[in-house]
Amino acid sequence: MTALLETLRGIVGAANVMTEGDLRAWEEDWRKRDRGKALAVVRPSSTAQVAAVVTACAAAGTSIVAQGGNTGLVGGSTPDGSGTQVLLSLQRMNRVRGLDAANLTMTVEAGCVLQSLQQVAQEQGLLFPLSLAAEGSCTIGGNLGTNAGGTQVVRYGNARDLCLGLEVVTAQGEIWDGLTGLRKDNTGYDLRDLFIGSEGTLGIITAATMKLYPLPAATVTAWAAVPSLDAAVALLGLAHRRLGAGLTGFEVMGQFALELVAKHYGQLRVPFHQQSPYCVLLENSDHQSEPHARDQFEQLLEAAMTEGWVTDAVVAENIAQGHQLWHVRESIPLAQAEEGLNIKHDISIPVSRIPDYCRETDALLRRAIPGVRLVNFGHLGDGNLHYNVQAPEGADMAAFLRDHETQVNTIVYDAVSRYDGSISAEHGVGSLKRDKLEQHKSPVALNLMRAIKHAIDPQNLLNPGRVLKP
Ligand code: FAD
Ligand code: ZN
Repeated sequence: MTALLETLRGIVGAANVMTEGDLRAWEEDWRKRDRGKALAVVRPSSTAQVAAVVTACAAAGTSIVAQGGNTGLVGGSTPDGSGTQVLLSLQRMNRVRGLDAANLTMTVEAGCVLQSLQQVAQEQGLLFPLSLAAEGSCTIGGNLGTNAGGTQVVRYGNARDLCLGLEVVTAQGEIWDGLTGLRKDNTGYDLRDLFIGSEGTLGIITAATMKLYPLPAATVTAWAAVPSLDAAVALLGLAHRRLGAGLTGFEVMGQFALELVAKHYGQLRVPFHQQSPYCVLLENSDHQSEPHARDQFEQLLEAAMTEGWVTDAVVAENIAQGHQLWHVRESIPLAQAEEGLNIKHDISIPVSRIPDYCRETDALLRRAIPGVRLVNFGHLGDGNLHYNVQAPEGADMAAFLRDHETQVNTIVYDAVSRYDGSISAEHGVGSLKRDKLEQHKSPVALNLMRAIKHAIDPQNLLNPGRVLKP
């Protein structure tokens, strides 16, 4: 081990091989549920250095956990407790290698913070549409590692849909230069898609070529109270038909989720939550003008009111007001954390079946645990719900988790299977959902996944024990 550390110091410099002091930022996960111990936190600054680090670790039989912003929510980005794994932080690899405005692409290094990439695009009058609440600290490498979703998937797709090419360091320390900006390339198996969403278990992503879009002339936000999830789904259909590609966001928020925001963030104005079981946040991005976008929205909401799908609505008057509405939506996870420990789910269901899924699962949970509180919100436009479960009012949260976590997960995930859904829509598998994956994915699919892992990483050095059992 000391010999390996010496080699690593020779590659990245002694200051970038950290073994002592407070390493919690790298060793503890964002949820503060996992705390590991790394052999060392290693911070390379170039692809060549990453390749040399992986080569040295492979020779020593030392496993590697790749990490970007450490905002992952499934226990996949921190080392285990053994003190033998190298935590490979990509944070210093944060250069934009190039932006091709005519090709609508940019090539960036894995450690670039998502928000900084949005800004780089915007400075060129372009849009990089990947957007999520952790964008101030998550990195594009982590976004691709988890195939992140976020709030604009309904229009632009997830991280996978936005990626054209990758540069990857393999488990053997070789560099695969797949940094293409081509939108068409049918030359055999799609290696890019294999690495995207593999959560650091197949290779280390060091750079990526990402798609850009023209910046819309105006982005207008609206907030609507809806009487039911059926009404929300009907409104989504109408919004698709009326706004077409202008519909860039469609979020749903349950009443209790919004009550928590009102309770813990008293300074935020939360429209209509007292009167309605669900509210919806819509975003319209328009290439003509702001008055046009607003006009479209007002007509849409009026038509929805006539149908009874919307009971009340407000269209943000300016960008600041739009930001405030988004801020309410984005405060839900934080308000929920303020309220106490809870059981989180990140599920997807075909949009058409979401109302029935929730009716059935809400009832099953309420019957099993009287008084249980459901914090249901998410990206309805992509059929993705954060269907979270909070202890009854006044209950001991730790005892609730201990006594009911397994029971709640079984109810929620069995229903997901009955409704042809997924147990992980956007956060990934990590260690948190690894065992659930075994239960809910087909044996054929699991065997193919194991075969791929074994072929690409035969020594099981890359993030071992995450996604798949060793
Ligand atoms: P990390 O947490 O560092 O790593 C995540 C995984 O990717 C790990 O398995 C790691 O090993 C692997 N990895 C990291 N970098 C690389 C690399 N260079 N090469 C290979 N593998 C790598 N996610 C969503 O999808 N949608 C949301 O709306 C969303 N909202 C969030 C809101 C908050 C407040 C928080 C804290 C998280 C949210 N997330 C969301 C989850 C998280 O932000 C995303 O998964 C994000 O993409 C992780 O990026 P990261 O750089 O922090 O990755
Ligand atoms: Zn989400």
